[in-house]
This record gives sequence, structure tokens and C-alpha cells, in this order.
Amino acid sequence: MSEVIQKPRTARAVGVVQAVRNVTPMMQRITVSGDEITDFLTVEGVAEPAAWVKVFLPSGEGRAYTIRHIDHEAGSIDLDFVLHGNDADSGPASAWAAQASVGEHLGIAGPRSGGFSLPHDAEWVLIAGDTTALPGMQSIAAQLPPDIDTKIFVEVANKAEQQAIPSPAIVRTHWVTALSEPCQALCKTLLSQSLPSGPGYIWIAGESTAIRTLRLHYLQDLALPKHRVSAKGYWKAGEGDHKDS
Ligand SMILES: Cc1cc2nc3c(=O)[nH]c(=O)nc-3n(C[C@H](O)[C@H](O)[C@H](O)COP(=O)(O)OP(=O)(O)OC[C@H]3O[C@@H](n4cnc5c(N)ncnc54)[C@H](O)[C@@H]3O)c2cc1C
Repeated sequence: MSEVIQKPRTARAVGVVQAVRNVTPMMQRITVSGDEITDFLTVEGVAEPAAWVKVFLPSGEGRAYTIRHIDHEAGSIDLDFVLHGNDADSGPASAWAAQASVGEHLGIAGPRSGGFSLPHDAEWVLIAGDTTALPGMQSIAAQLPPDIDTKIFVEVANKAEQQAIPSPAIVRTHWVTALSEPCQALCKTLLSQSLPSGPGYIWIAGESTAIRTLRLHYLQDLALPKHRVSAKGYWKAGEGDHKDS
């Protein structure tokens, strides 16, 4: 008899923008709530580390965003949008978030896995990314076991983009200031890092071309087994609505 493969449940919901808040100059938090969002919060996987949704803008266009925070009591979710351009040509999602107002409708579909799967024997974890991955890194950090040795590397445009990354684990956070190319500074920093001994786990996300470079020149050299690494391109310079292959 053939095995029945159960696909993870996914759902769609339309919520109402309940709040818009500038977390840092380049990071806009949109809080979405409503009856459909309350139902959405019951879907399996919604609270997994770095879980994400496809967000459908009022224009109908869709982009991927991490579930930054869930408030079960209020029945709301927070999505943090990097503001990388204020007109639709530089990115409809960024442009919408920059000017979003309370009462607007926003669709979401998902949740999808953020790819963070900590092996049971991991003694250390290395988490790295740019500002698009910061909501994912914050979500992961908040759910780490307390006894795990954790290093976090975040590339930001400048000091004003640094944020708190609360965690029950002992975390050393390194803020890396961006150079001219996206994730160039992050790559340079990671390439100079030696890893702790013992079994561990690496999660990296950011600009796609840079992630590819890291896969070829850093992760490959480390020769870690597949289940000890997750590296994903979250966007690609010069390409709208990029999907990592
Ligand atoms: C699983 C996943 C989770 C993600 N979570 C988040 C999140 O929580 N917060 C978040 O802000 N982003 C997140 N992203 C990245 C986000 O989906 C992309 O940045 C997306 O391209 C933004 O859409 P847009 O409409 O603004 O720009 P697009 O229309 O996709 O692109 C238009 C132009 O803008 C450029 N561009 C896109 N993003 C950036 C950027 N960040 N900086 C500079 N230039 C850019 C593109 O290269 C292109 O030239 C996530 C992506 C994935 C795959």
C-alpha cells in the first residue's frame, strides 16, 4: 500500500491593519488583526522559528514576509518591512509599507517553514543575515534552548538599524555595517570566522547572490552535513519578486 504524504496545512486570511510603527528608520512594523487572522493563528507551524507568509498587498501583488510576532490574546500578527524604496518601481511591498495606514486590508497565505531545524545534539548555533532576515533571526533567538552557545551576525546599513534580539540563550551579537554591495560585509565577516568544536547548526538568510557565494566559499568548505545548515536567499539585487531556487 502506498504511503499517504500529508501536506502541511496552509491557510489564507485577510486582516485589517491595526497599527503602523517605525521600529527603526528603515524598518516599518505593520500589525494586522481581525477574525480571519485569529483563525489563521490556529494553523500548525504559525509560531515556528522564522515562519513566514506570503503577504498580498492591496494592489494584489504578493511578497514573502516573516511572522515577526504573534499576540494570541489580541489575535494579531506583526510583520516587519524593510523600507528599501518609497515608490512602486523600487518595490511595491516596501512602498506600500512606507505609507500604510490603519484600516487598510492585507492578505496573507501560509504559514511556510523558515527552515530552522535545530538538531537535538547541537551545542552551538550560528545565525546570520541582513535586515530582511532580522525578523527571522529575532524569531529564532526567542525560541532557542537556554544552554546553547549562540553567535548572531547581522548586517545593517548603520547603527540606527540595530535592534534588540532577546533570547533565553547566551547570545553574542555582532553588528556588521554594510559595504557597497549587499551582504558583502556579512560575507567577509563570516569567512573570517572559525566555528566552535562539537556538533552545531547554521542558519543564514539575505541577498541571494551573496548567499550563493557563501554556499560555495564558506559552507562548502565547512563540509557540514545537510541537516546542519540552512542558507536561503531572501531577495536579489536588481530583481523584483525573486524566488530562491
Ligand atoms: C522566507 C522569506 C522571508 C522574508 N522576510 C522578510 C521580512 O520579514 N522583512 C523584509 O523586509 N523582507 C523579508 N523578505 C524579503 C522580501 O520578501 C524581499 O525584500 C522582497 O523583494 C520585497 O518586495 P518589494 O516589493 O519591496 O521589492 P521587489 O518588487 O521584490 O523588488 C524591487 C527591487 O527592489 C530590490 N529589493 C528588494 N528587497 C530589497 C531590500 N531588502 N533591500 C534593497 N533592495 C531590495 C530588488 O532587488 C528589486 O530591484 C523575506 C523573503 C523571504 C523569501
